[in-house]
This record gives sequence, structure tokens and C-alpha cells, in this order.
Amino acid sequence: MENTIKLGISSCLLGNDVRYDGSNSSDRFLIDTLGHYVSYVPVCPEVECGLGIPREPVRLVGDPDNPRLVTTRTGKDYTDLMVSWARKRVQELETEHLCGFIFKKSSPSSGMERVKVYGEKGYPVKKGVGMFVRVFMEHFPRLPVEEDGRLNDMHLRENFVERIFALQRWRNLLAEDTRRSHHIDFHTAHKLLLLSHSPKHYQGMGRLLAHAKDYPLQELYLNYEVMLLDALKLMATPKKHVNVLQHLMGYFKKDLSADEKKELLEIIARYSSGLVPLIVPMTLINHYVRKYDQPYLKQQVYLNPHPLELQIRNHV
Ligand code: SF4
Repeated sequence: MENTIKLGISSCLLGNDVRYDGSNSSDRFLIDTLGHYVSYVPVCPEVECGLGIPREPVRLVGDPDNPRLVTTRTGKDYTDLMVSWARKRVQELETEHLCGFIFKKSSPSSGMERVKVYGEKGYPVKKGVGMFVRVFMEHFPRLPVEEDGRLNDMHLRENFVERIFALQRWRNLLAEDTRRSHHIDFHTAHKLLLLSHSPKHYQGMGRLLAHAKDYPLQELYLNYEVMLLDALKLMATPKKHVNVLQHLMGYFKKDLSADEKKELLEIIARYSSGLVPLIVPMTLINHYVRKYDQPYLKQQVYLNPHPLELQIRNHV
């Protein structure tokens, strides 16, 4: 198992000229910024299943829950070709140990949601899922997935990035050391991160670990991974962050002067009202963690869940 985060991605987003007209849909954030921290596995369903470049564009038609993939002008039906190729491709992708997939929005093959499906009268409803994506998500139901368009929303970006980094840390742990004590260390280090997403899941994961000896190791890990991914999929809202920040403040009860406490409370209140982004209270808290040498907090992933250079907490 490699240490790099591997993500599947719709090939055109990387600037590859694979669209029906030989163009691409390059995305600067994915290529220039996130691309520094992940390695991509590009997939173009339409080219890889043999439709060629250039090609007649395709669209989804019929029942939005079970549409067909048909060319727009000549009406050629590529559904069976695409589905049988997709089933083989997802088997191959298992060997890549992907931490997630970024799809191209609106595409009849690669769109994750709200893809146009055309009815008999030729009018579209935005209720479809791309033909390849449907097969992919059935095969990897819990793997983090997103679309290029949705990743422009900073809260969705934060959520996706946190999930892929957490999944890679979890997989690294399993690859390096499966002792139960290390599993507990992992859980402890992720406490505040999990609380910022779902206190309920954090408690459930704690109960699972308390009864760890009742489970065969593989079953224990699988159950824990499912709960980890389910927890992190829930959005970390400002309200949940405020609860975690107040919880964090409790560790400095004896250290902070009255003035420092007042300042920190004011900054948390400003974050809570949307006046400053999360990076502001986090920077002050990281300063206190270093200043007052808090060993328990130093190991908390929540304080540095992903590279600062991604600037995600500057915008949430
Ligand atoms: S959206 Fe998907 S099928 Fe279309 S060009 Fe991009 S990768 Fe290929």
C-alpha cells in the first residue's frame, strides 16, 4: 500500500482532450492545488468503452431511475456497452485502493447527480446519475465521491478533503500496524475531528472499541471503517465546530489568563456569527497548544486535518 492518497477522476478534468469534440474541462484547483497532495487515476468512460474522439454526443433518456445512454442525433443506444465496460472497470479500480473519486458534473456518463434525463417528448428532468457513476457507487458505496462543481462550495470541499485524508490515515494504520492499542490511538487522535462531524458516531465507535475483543480483527476493522466514513460524511457545521472549540478551551482552564480566555471566547463568538473563518480561532488555539505544551491536544488531528496550503479553513 502506498502512502499517497489516490483519487479516481474524470479524465477531462485533468485537461485531457477526451470530450466528444476533442476538448477538455480542466479544473485549476484539482490540477494545481489538490493535485500536489494526491495522485490521480484518470477515467474517461466514453473513450475507454470505445466511443472514440471526436464522437457524437450522448445523453440519458427514458426512466430517470433506469435511463438509457443514447446518441443525441442518430439515437444509437450505448447502454449495454457502457454498463458491461463499467462493471469490468470498477473491478480493475479495486487494485488502485482509491480514497475517493471526483466526477465531472452534468455528464451522462460521469455526472454524480442532477444529470439531465430526456423524456419521450424531448424535455429533460435533472434527476439522473451518470451511467458509469451509478455502477461505481454501487460497487464502492462508502467511498468519498464528489463533483467538480460541488467542490467549489467550500463546505463540501472541506468535507471531501477531510474524508480522503482520514481514509488514507486509516489505511496507513492498517498497512503498518494492526495492534489493538494502535487502533485506540487512532480513535483518540480523531476524537475532536469526529466530534465536529457527529458526536453520536464518535460514541458508537467508542462502544465498538470497548467490545473489540468480541470481534474477529477483520470484522472489527470493517465495522470501524464503515462508522468512520459514515461519521465524516455528515457535515461539520459551524455549530458543531463551536462546540469542539469550546471543548478545546476546557483543556486550557488552568493555563490561560483571564484576558486570554476573554480573547479566545470573543474570537469563537466571531466565528460563530460568521464574522471570521475557522482558521482564526484554530490559529489561536494552535498557538496555545504550543505555548502551554498540551501533549493530548498536540496529537489531535482536528488541529491540522489537512495541509494548510489547501486554505480550506480560510473559507469555512
Ligand atoms: S465527462 Fe466523463 S465521459 Fe465525458 S469526457 Fe469527461 S471523463 Fe470522458
